Amino acid sequence: MADTLKLGFSVFTVPPKGVLLVFCDDKLKLGSQTRKGLGRAAELFKRAAAANKFTGKNGSALDIVAPAGLKVARLLVIGTGKAKDLASLDLVKLGGAAMGCIPASAAEATLFAELPGGALSPAQAAEIALGVRLRAYSFDRYKTTKRKEDEEPKGEKRVTIAVADASAARRAFAPRQAAADGVDIARDLVNEPANVLYPEEFARRAGALKKLGVSVEVLDVKAMKKLGMNALLGVGQGSRRDSRLVVMRWNGGARGAEPVAFIGKGVCFDTGGISIKPASGMEDMKGDMAGAACVVGLMHTLAARKAKVNAVGAMGVVENMPDGNAQRPGDIVTSMSGQTIEIINTDAEGRLVLADVLWYVAQRFKPKFMVNLATLTGAIIVALGQEYAGLFCNDDKLAEQLTKAGQATGEKVWRMPLGPEYDKLIDSKFADVKNTGGRHGGAITAAQFLQRFVQKGVPWAHLDIAGTGMGPPTTDINRSWGSGFGVRLLDQLVADDYES
Ligand code: MN
Ligand code: ZN
Repeated sequence: MADTLKLGFSVFTVPPKGVLLVFCDDKLKLGSQTRKGLGRAAELFKRAAAANKFTGKNGSALDIVAPAGLKVARLLVIGTGKAKDLASLDLVKLGGAAMGCIPASAAEATLFAELPGGALSPAQAAEIALGVRLRAYSFDRYKTTKRKEDEEPKGEKRVTIAVADASAARRAFAPRQAAADGVDIARDLVNEPANVLYPEEFARRAGALKKLGVSVEVLDVKAMKKLGMNALLGVGQGSRRDSRLVVMRWNGGARGAEPVAFIGKGVCFDTGGISIKPASGMEDMKGDMAGAACVVGLMHTLAARKAKVNAVGAMGVVENMPDGNAQRPGDIVTSMSGQTIEIINTDAEGRLVLADVLWYVAQRFKPKFMVNLATLTGAIIVALGQEYAGLFCNDDKLAEQLTKAGQATGEKVWRMPLGPEYDKLIDSKFADVKNTGGRHGGAITAAQFLQRFVQKGVPWAHLDIAGTGMGPPTTDINRSWGSGFGVRLLDQLVADDYES
């Protein structure tokens, strides 16, 4: 919820109060507007830097309280390190680092978007503003006593980005604001507890995108039964909360052009079902819908920035609970594709949900490609830690595009193998396929399972975001448990490669 942040742009002017943030490089050089703005305080900065052994290292900050010659309460100088050749992502991170330096108690801050080499372009200033937005997010709607927030000013925090051309920067920021809003939506959904966010409520919240011109269809249990989605329905049958399939469409591209499709695993809570999980850490399973949350955030972004693309977002939203009606190990279900699935472990439920949604989307929409996101396996965290999402892909071009988008946004993906040797491991004694392939290569056999439900000829990628979507290490641009991983990655993919 960045609703406490009010972000704006102005031309370079030193404010009469609040906090002033400026950048310097690793030679302690300041930009020309910055030098002009600081006046005598520029000299003060040099002395304070020497006294504090501040060297302008990237992301470091020097805090000067009540700087002589300025009216502001504080001057914060943020180091950029070598300021040459900073990539867009470096600027986003710098914006995040700067936001992180603003004291909680400050109601107003102005950030000079200038490097020693000269004023930044509107797009570069907008990247800094994006970093500010991403860092500002916090999820505190259930903290009613507001312990640490007691020091914070009531109402909103105003952060102004000072630039050479404010209206150009504002225009450049618009699509990034759409992305930041999408990330915030995804983070909120992941952070929400499962007693609040169950399938029906998830579908209701997704419905908010209608006001942006996104069509939102919600299929209930009866409708899914009719379609033969027994793999998905089997997962939800032990819950008092009914399952839902949410289908969103944004048509910003050429009329009739085949859409790109994004599919999310939306397990609002995963107890493991009858194959119940151990108690320790089970609370994290409220985030087992991070894939679906990303799809909602992404569809918001595409619509809000009026992306010139036709896009489908589909989410299978269920709750996996143990109950007298719950699915058992050994049960055999017939998926929408007609393939039968033997349930070996009811905790391998995400792939069952996705099996039917992948089939449905390919059949109904004939998409250009499908990318699904899922907090699918613990095995992907064993393999990659929490730095990269696992990428499994049947198409080299799509894999390359995703990898490139990952590098540009910092939402990195690492390609993992698929192959017939792995596929054999999920052959079942009693059905066409079983839902686990054993301990070895667990992230891969999960992907093999999904691939059995991808129709021939459809380019498809599976992103296993179990490590990156929930509780990844904090960074300059994310302090939230639910990271919103994937929104910026896939928005970049669309912008780079799929807009007409
Ligand atoms: Mn599970
Ligand atoms: Zn799960």
